[in-house]
Amino acid sequence: MALFYVHQQGERSFCDVYAMRFEISLMICLWLVCFDSGTMAARSPPALSLIEDKWADLSLADEECGGLTAPDAQVVDEGTSQWELVGRFLTNRAIKFEHMQLVMASVWRPVMGMHLDLLDKNLFLFHFPHPKDMQRVLDDGPWSYENNLLVCAQIKPGMRPDEVDLNNIPFWVQVHGLPAVYASQDFITKIGDHVGAFMSIDPNNFGGSWRSYYRIRIMLDVNLSLKRRMKLLRRDVTSQWITFRYERLNIFCFCCGILGHTEKFCKKVYEEGIESEAFPFGAWMKVGPRRQV
Ligand SMILES: [Zn+2]
Repeated sequence: MALFYVHQQGERSFCDVYAMRFEISLMICLWLVCFDSGTMAARSPPALSLIEDKWADLSLADEECGGLTAPDAQVVDEGTSQWELVGRFLTNRAIKFEHMQLVMASVWRPVMGMHLDLLDKNLFLFHFPHPKDMQRVLDDGPWSYENNLLVCAQIKPGMRPDEVDLNNIPFWVQVHGLPAVYASQDFITKIGDHVGAFMSIDPNNFGGSWRSYYRIRIMLDVNLSLKRRMKLLRRDVTSQWITFRYERLNIFCFCCGILGHTEKFCKKVYEEGIESEAFPFGAWMKVGPRRQV
């Protein structure tokens, strides 16, 4: 009843509140006078109940008027919680968590250590006590466990691990066949955006008069086919092919060009009955990590 009353009187002013205080005080005085004079009727349930209801109304009215102003938002503690990566492997097969943990630690060799949590069947949380170890893992990828590529990303403050987009992997891509006269920074960037999303160039691989290939860091969407090549259209209407090779490229499909499965398990092969001789992709697109020829 009291709650209903406050909802109806939600916009009550301070004057109303003080008027109610006065009304309650008056009722208490009258009740005390009656009590002193021995009038047992003053203790009757209706009178006590009325005072209790009034106090309840006043208390809720104070809540409506009062409150505290929120302080400035605190900076989140930049402890170990910030240096976390969440990751999944591009495979349908079960990952042996304990073994994977040992393998990744031996490959990454984090100076300040690390530990892993299993969040789901194929979702892992990598904790790094030091940001340099985490950044090295991000910069030097892609990484694999038993030939299965790891897709990982840093968890930004305020995000849950399962909210992080795990569909992109950075690769070093070698661009073969590009004449040096066209190898401007601007055109290299355009080539990177043609293959995926351009990130950076390898400064050790640029600047000379001749290179057998140019090396670009590119973010690739794991749901899209790899780009094999690109036609370079010259101003004199002639053209030539520029080809792409991917460093540390593991399992991918020679039929559809998508990472994470082979043609043996490719739906396109099943649905369209494509023979292996007609596969457009091949092992020639893989190349070991090399900085310069
Ligand atoms: Zn496929």
